[in-house]
Amino acid sequence: MPDQIPSPPINRVSLFGKTLREIEALVASQGWPKFTARQLTEWLYKKNVGAFEEMTNLSKKIRNELEEKFVLGISAPTSFQESIDGTKKYLFPTASNRFVESAYIPHEERKTLCVSSQVGCKMGCLFCMTGKQGFMAQLTSGEIVNQVRSLPERDILTNFVYMGMGEPFDNIEEVIKSLEVFTSVWGYALSPRRFTVSSIGVIPGMMEFLKRTEAHLAISLHSPFDEERKSLMPIQNVYPIHEVLENIKQWDFGLQRRVSFEYIMFNGVNDTSNHVNELARILHGISCRINLIRFHPIPHTPLAGSPDSVIFAFQEKLKAKGIITTIRSSRGLDIFAACGMLSTKALVKKQEEDF
Ligand code: SF4
Repeated sequence: MPDQIPSPPINRVSLFGKTLREIEALVASQGWPKFTARQLTEWLYKKNVGAFEEMTNLSKKIRNELEEKFVLGISAPTSFQESIDGTKKYLFPTASNRFVESAYIPHEERKTLCVSSQVGCKMGCLFCMTGKQGFMAQLTSGEIVNQVRSLPERDILTNFVYMGMGEPFDNIEEVIKSLEVFTSVWGYALSPRRFTVSSIGVIPGMMEFLKRTEAHLAISLHSPFDEERKSLMPIQNVYPIHEVLENIKQWDFGLQRRVSFEYIMFNGVNDTSNHVNELARILHGISCRINLIRFHPIPHTPLAGSPDSVIFAFQEKLKAKGIITTIRSSRGLDIFAACGMLSTKALVKKQEEDF
């Protein structure tokens, strides 16, 4: 575990997670030399310093002012759990005195980090623990990037997925800022092709994401039928999947940018041949892949997961329709780190009781 760094006091502005443009504006507002902005991004995102005093090419005066008026805004995870399969779930504190979880998922050469974008979520999907927690707070770009920056495995990560707690397109500006920090030359300079942002299909946020970033898009589909999808995902009432797909069909993804669809398999609900046929129909014209996901029941849900035999047959039928279809292996089940299982509800409850 890295050194423990206290959460930033709320009344001082955090620098971590700010874009170059924001830091330039901040530097100008302080009357510091213009080049200080580049120096700051270098210290923040290339050298990963843990304190202002380590920024040794800044004058003593500027370092003192930084200390007085700002905080760095990085926080080490307060705890982690490790699964028997090597998956680790980290708990990060947020400035709002809450917690979010991130899941580190190693698989052969691939080391993926699943980051959170909100504390809780307001979307209320029937199958999701985060949804049951309800919405508590937005994460800032700094709090999103910090889940990578302060991870012990930071330097060996190969892929980054925004599939943790929260709906990323419900926090679109901070999510886009975090991607800018990750992928800009002045930031971590990582390829945008290493990032996938997953959404249930919040169209305005999705269009901003498509316009302003180069990262891959994943859409949680879960049912091709309107009424059934409504019963699983209330967002269908606001942004029906056919409108989401219309927008995707009209977008030029180019050769390298990918769109994929997540499909959790619910026993006797969305796993029939009718679903295969309808999926093939509505996805026609989109070059994509479907990821089938095993469902692991969470408390207080009427849903159960499809048996493996049904999942394999479903996959074969989709493939026969010409759709690339993979089955996502479940990771971190024993520590509740698998898809849809992240929740910090118990912690929040405990905090409120302590308070
Ligand atoms: Fe929110 Fe995603 Fe869970 Fe739905 S599946 S409640 S959008 S975190």
